[in-house]
Amino acid sequence: MRVVDLIRKKRDGGELSREEILFLVLGAARQTVPDYQLAAWLMAMVCRGLTRAETAFLTEAMLNSGEVLDFSDIPGAKVDKHSTGGVGDKTSLIVAPIVAAASGSSSPVYVPMLSGRGLGHTGGTLDKLESIPGFRVNLSKQEFRSVLVACGCALGGPTPEIAPADKRLYALRDVTGTIESPGLICASIMSKKLAEGIGALVLDVKTGSGAFMKNEKDALALAKLLVETGERMGARTVALVTDMNQPLGRNVGNALEVEECLRILSGQGPADLRELSIELSAWMLLLAGCVTDLVGGKQLAEEVVATGRARDKFRQIIQEQGGDKRVVDDPACLPQARKTEVLRSERSGFVSSMACEQIGTACVILGGGREKQDDVIDPAVGIVFSKKVGDAVQAGEALCNVRYNAESRLREALDLLKASFVITENPPEQRPLILRTIGS
Ligand code: URA
Repeated sequence: MRVVDLIRKKRDGGELSREEILFLVLGAARQTVPDYQLAAWLMAMVCRGLTRAETAFLTEAMLNSGEVLDFSDIPGAKVDKHSTGGVGDKTSLIVAPIVAAASGSSSPVYVPMLSGRGLGHTGGTLDKLESIPGFRVNLSKQEFRSVLVACGCALGGPTPEIAPADKRLYALRDVTGTIESPGLICASIMSKKLAEGIGALVLDVKTGSGAFMKNEKDALALAKLLVETGERMGARTVALVTDMNQPLGRNVGNALEVEECLRILSGQGPADLRELSIELSAWMLLLAGCVTDLVGGKQLAEEVVATGRARDKFRQIIQEQGGDKRVVDDPACLPQARKTEVLRSERSGFVSSMACEQIGTACVILGGGREKQDDVIDPAVGIVFSKKVGDAVQAGEALCNVRYNAESRLREALDLLKASFVITENPPEQRPLILRTIGS
C-alpha cells in the first residue's frame, strides 16, 4: 500500500477499508508516515466525511495502536466522563472528585480519567490541572494505578503506550483546521476512553458557538455515534447534549477555571456549572451501579459536596499527584496574572448572545492556549465574566475582566471579546443548558 494512493482515494470520495485505515493509523503511531501526509489524509477525511464503517475501523485501529489498561483486579466499577470540548468547560475537575468521594464500601467506584490538552479554541483538562503548581499529569502506568487505588480517581494524560496514534493525529488536527469531523472526534475520544479499561462512560457533547458542533442536529448525530461506538465496544455509554453558546461558568483560562472548580466543590460557584457537574456525576454514579436512579445520583453528588468530602477528595488527588494542595484552601496560591483590564458595555440593555468561539480564541491569544504545537501556555491569563446571556447591563458597566501578562496580546483579545457580546433592548429567550440525553 502507498500512503499517497490512500490519500487520493479518500480525497476523491472513496471509502477506505479496515486494512487501509489500519495501515495509516499504524504509520501514524510508529512515525513511519510523515506529518504532511497525515495532515493531507486528515483534511481529506474532514472534507469527505467518514462512513459508519470507516469510523468504527478508525476507532478500533487507534485504540489498538496502543495498550488497553486493565484494572479488573481492583474490585469495583470503573467509570469516566469526557467532553467534546468547550469554553470554560471544566466539569472534569469537579465530577472526578465527586464520584470518587461518593464511592461506598458496598459499591466501590473508580475514575481512571485520561484527558487531553486544549484543542483549537477549547480548553483542555490537562492544561487546567497543570496550572496547579507541581501537579503532574504525566504519570507512568504504575503511578496512575497507585493514585487510582489510593484516591479512587487518577487524573492523567494518555501515557505514550495509550492510543499513540491519537496523540500524533490530535496534535496535527489542532494546527491544521481538521478538528471538526464527527468521525475523527468519535475515533479520537473513544480510542482514548476505551483504553482506560472502563465499564461505563458519560459523554458531554457540546453544541453552539463555542463547540466544534455548532448546531444541535450535528451534535445529536455525534452523540449517537459516540454512544453506538461505546456500547458496541462493551462500555455502557450515555451522552448529554449540552449548550455551549456561552462559556460554562464565569471563568475562562486555566488557573481561573481551577479556582472556579474549587468554589463549586465548596458548595458555591455559578449555577450553570453546578447544575451540569451534578447531572454528569449523577449519570456516572448511576452507570457505575452506586445508585438506582438519576434522582438518587443527584442527591448523592450534592451530599458529597455539602459535606466537604468532594473537596477533601480533590485535595487528596492534588497531593498524590505532586501538586500544591494549599490551592484548595487558598486559591491565591494558583498562578496570578500581573495585570487586569475591564471591558465595559457601550450601551444599556440585555446580553442577548456571546460568540463563544471568539471568547475561546481571545483566551488563546492571551496565552491561555496554543496557536502552534510547541507554544507554552501561560496558566494565569484568562477572562472573568461579570455578565452572561440574559443579564441586564448598563452603559459603562463591566462585561468582563481580562487577566493578562503580555501587553502585546491584550488589544487583539479585547477586540475579539468586545465583538463577541451582542447587547439588545429586550432580553433573549432562555435556553436550557442540558438539551438531550442519549442512551441508557
Ligand atoms: N476531544 C478529543 O479528545 N478529541 C477530539 O477530536 C475532540 C475533542
